[in-house]
Amino acid sequence: MSDVFSSVVKRQLRIERFIESLSLDLIKKCQTGDRQIIRLLTDFTDNAGARDLASLQRGGVGSALGRTLVKALTGVVADQSKSITESLTETLPDLSERESRYMSELMELKKSPPSESTSPIFIAANVNLLFNRHRVRLFSHLMNAAAEGKDLVKTVRGTKQYQRKDGIFVQRDQHLKATTDVLVHKAVMDTRKKVYKVSGVSMVRWLATLDLRTCPTCASRDGQLFELNHSPNHPHPKCRCIIIPNTANIERPAVSDERSVKDIPPSERKDKITRTKVSFKEWFDGLDKEDQRDWLGKTRFDLYRKGRLTIDQMIAGDGRLLRLDEL
Ligand SMILES: [Zn+2]
Repeated sequence: MSDVFSSVVKRQLRIERFIESLSLDLIKKCQTGDRQIIRLLTDFTDNAGARDLASLQRGGVGSALGRTLVKALTGVVADQSKSITESLTETLPDLSERESRYMSELMELKKSPPSESTSPIFIAANVNLLFNRHRVRLFSHLMNAAAEGKDLVKTVRGTKQYQRKDGIFVQRDQHLKATTDVLVHKAVMDTRKKVYKVSGVSMVRWLATLDLRTCPTCASRDGQLFELNHSPNHPHPKCRCIIIPNTANIERPAVSDERSVKDIPPSERKDKITRTKVSFKEWFDGLDKEDQRDWLGKTRFDLYRKGRLTIDQMIAGDGRLLRLDEL
C-alpha cells in the first residue's frame, strides 16, 4: 500500500503542473477582453468632455458617452467570465475522467467508476464571483481616476514601473490562478474519494508534506484519520496534502528547509532530506531549534519550547491559524 502513497504523491506533482499550465491558458484567454477594455477607455478619453468625465465619477449617469462606456465595459467583463466558465466546464470533467482511470488502476479496480465531475453550477458560481469582484475594482478605479483627473488607461492597466501591479489585471490573474487551483483540487479530491469508496476504503489518512513550507493547518492534520465521507477538503489554494487509504507506518521523505527541493544546492540536500515514518508533529519535534523558530515565529516558538503550545493548539476549530493574542 505504500505504493499507493508514492504513486499519489507523484500524481499530485503532475496535477500541480497541470494547474500551472491551465491557469496560464485561462489568463491568456482574458487578454483579448483586456485589450478591448483599454481600447474603450482610449476612445472615451479622446472624446470625453467635462460632463462625460463627471458622469463617469457617478458610474455613467447623466451622459450618453458615459453610459455607453459603462455598458460596454460591463459586457466585456461578462464575456470574459462566460468564456472562462465554459473553458473550465469543458476541462474539469476530462480531468476527473483521467484521474478516475488512474486511481482505479492504482486501486486495482476492474473498471473505473463513473467520475465525480464538478457541477457546472459550482464552477460558474466561483468564476462569476471572481469576475464580479473584478468588475467592481474596475469601476472603482475608473470613478476615482475620473474624480482625480487621472489618466484612465494608466489607472486600469497599471504602470510598467510597478510591473502593472498597480493596475487591475495582475490581481485578476492571481485570483484566476487561485480559483483554478481550488476547482482542480476539488475535482481531483472528489474523484479520489469516489474511487476509494468503490474500492471499499472507509477510512483515509491525511498526509501533509514534511517540509517547512507546510502551513500549520495542514501540519496539524498530518497523519490524522478521517472517515472517507467526512474527510475535509483542501484548506487553501496550493495545498500539497493528499489522502490515502488508512495504512500505518508509511515511510516518506522529509525536508528540513523552506525551499523546494529543486532550489536546495545538491551539497546541502544530504543533511536536509531524510526519510521518516512519523507524523509532521513528531518529525518537527526532532528538528533544529533554528528551523523550529523560523517556522513557528518567535512568540509561538517560545511557547512551544516551554511546552505550552502544540501544533494542534495553534489552529482554531475551523482550521484557521490562531492569532498571537488568541493563543
Ligand atoms: Zn495542505
